[in-house]
Amino acid sequence: MPSGIRPATAPSRSLSTCGKLGRLFFMPSAISHAIVATAIGKVVKPKQVPWWYWALGAAVSAAPDLDVIGFHFGVRYGDFLGHRGFTHSLFFAALLAGLVTIALVGQSQISRWRLFLYLFLATASHGILDAMTNGGLGVAFFSPFTNARYFFPFHPIKVSPIGVGRFFSARGLAVIQSEAQWLWVPSAAVFAVATLVRRAISSGPGHRQT
Ligand SMILES: [Zn+2]
Repeated sequence: MPSGIRPATAPSRSLSTCGKLGRLFFMPSAISHAIVATAIGKVVKPKQVPWWYWALGAAVSAAPDLDVIGFHFGVRYGDFLGHRGFTHSLFFAALLAGLVTIALVGQSQISRWRLFLYLFLATASHGILDAMTNGGLGVAFFSPFTNARYFFPFHPIKVSPIGVGRFFSARGLAVIQSEAQWLWVPSAAVFAVATLVRRAISSGPGHRQT
């Protein structure tokens, strides 16, 4: 087992068969995934990027949760295609990043490898954040090779309820507070540091205009 992460506990019957599952997301909210992806994008990006660079990062960072569609078709939480299953794996992150990079092969604004790296990290960050939440099942990081589910040893992020009504409940506010503390503030810090470092580099002696 890789160090630093542990297998998730087996799904309880209520978790794997509960009808409420189709209405519950066990995840940080999509907005928080996008915020983290934006911080990653700031670190990885070349000097100039088009608008779609940011949009793509936000989209792929939220994409793994499309697996909840499976609930409506009888897919169980702990299945290969269940929530936090294959779409939350590192393999899926590489696959999605590769497909999007290939689809954009005609663009010349960002190098292929840099774009792939960004999209991979943005997608993979989703599962990493989910593995730091305090609810649901763990993440199948190594799917399709194993469907074992993992959590990190620390999970300070509260799971997010779905739906506007739920989100603005007391629990929803606690989720926002938790995500702000553990995701938004660190992401803003990374973004700010990356901005300062880039400015320092571009104003260095080798980059001064004569
Ligand atoms: Zn997720």
